[in-house]
Amino acid sequence: MSLFARLLALFAALSIALLIAITVDVDSSANVPQVRAVLETEPVLSPGDAADDVAIWIDPSNPLRSMIVATDKDRGLVTYDLSGNALQHLAMGEINNVDLRDGFSLGGERITLIAGSNRTDKTVVVLTIDPVTRLLRVLNSVPIRVSLEDAYGLCMYHSPKSDRFYIFVTSTGNGAVEQWELFDDAGKVGARQVRSFIVGSDAEGCVADDQSATLYVSEEMRGIWRYGAEPSDGDARMLIDHIGGENPLKADLEGLAIYQGASGASYLVASNQGNSEFVVYDRANGYAYVGSFKIGGGATVDAVTLTDGIDLTHVSLGPTFPQGVLIVQDHRNTNPIANQNFKLVSWADVARALDLPDASATATQEPLSPAQAQAS
Ligand code: CA
Ligand code: CA
Ligand code: CA
Ligand code: CA
Repeated sequence: MSLFARLLALFAALSIALLIAITVDVDSSANVPQVRAVLETEPVLSPGDAADDVAIWIDPSNPLRSMIVATDKDRGLVTYDLSGNALQHLAMGEINNVDLRDGFSLGGERITLIAGSNRTDKTVVVLTIDPVTRLLRVLNSVPIRVSLEDAYGLCMYHSPKSDRFYIFVTSTGNGAVEQWELFDDAGKVGARQVRSFIVGSDAEGCVADDQSATLYVSEEMRGIWRYGAEPSDGDARMLIDHIGGENPLKADLEGLAIYQGASGASYLVASNQGNSEFVVYDRANGYAYVGSFKIGGGATVDAVTLTDGIDLTHVSLGPTFPQGVLIVQDHRNTNPIANQNFKLVSWADVARALDLPDASATATQEPLSPAQAQAS
């Protein structure tokens, strides 16, 4: 064979190999629907891997004034309006995860409680929102110092059985979890530990459902667990899905969130960080796997990859988010290149992409007027 013929054969072989590689790559994600973020928040102040978790506060008097509370895990908390403009930066330590609940009774007033896991000193910080100014304020609370390896993940729970408020703090290592009850202690937010259990290995993302008294925890390298959320529920649990099973899960499993759809539909959403995907389970149908989706890049907002924390609401937030909003951390904020930030995805787009049964039923739902929202 001449040198030319050998080069030609080599070139042909390389071309075929390249073609196979490209085809395989396309095939592996060909069936994963993509949605696009509608908008993104301003970057967090800290460089590097700093944005982590989010919680959505719904303004009961005007849902369009609702607010995002997010963590800058090297610095503290940051809040944004629904257009992504930063409202307030609070330097408070290495706040990793954040969650909130309305309706906590303190000094005869019903207030919103916000809690954050502080890795700097393994404590939980407690704050509230002034609904008029939308500014956060640290509450006078008894020290909440967990005895875990790390104050890593955090989520809150308002019991439908007892009307009591709780926080769950998850940890690295053996994935130990502590449940604390919060109460009005003569005008301060008091706290007492009421339960602990061990998940098995690094556990961060968690979410509690206040209707069914259920807690979900991500064991990062293994799977998603369901526990009871009441202090008396012990360590009985059910594995909803796991890495290495038939569904496309890849470590780490990270943030969790719940969507309450129209007509009883309800979904559990998880950040499948290793695949830069989000996975959806049908809570009303035995946690059946509904599908996965990616958040691709658009003209103004870049694609979402390697997401940590997420939050999700079904509450209609105007024409931009008629069926609610999914908010996700994004590992690389490009277009333009900047510190990490959070992306806002219209749930209506997710419902369409996954062909959810209630996608059309609620697509025409009008946003709540302030008066309706107050009445609801
Ligand atoms: Ca993690
Ligand atoms: Ca994280
Ligand atoms: Ca990105
Ligand atoms: Ca960007």
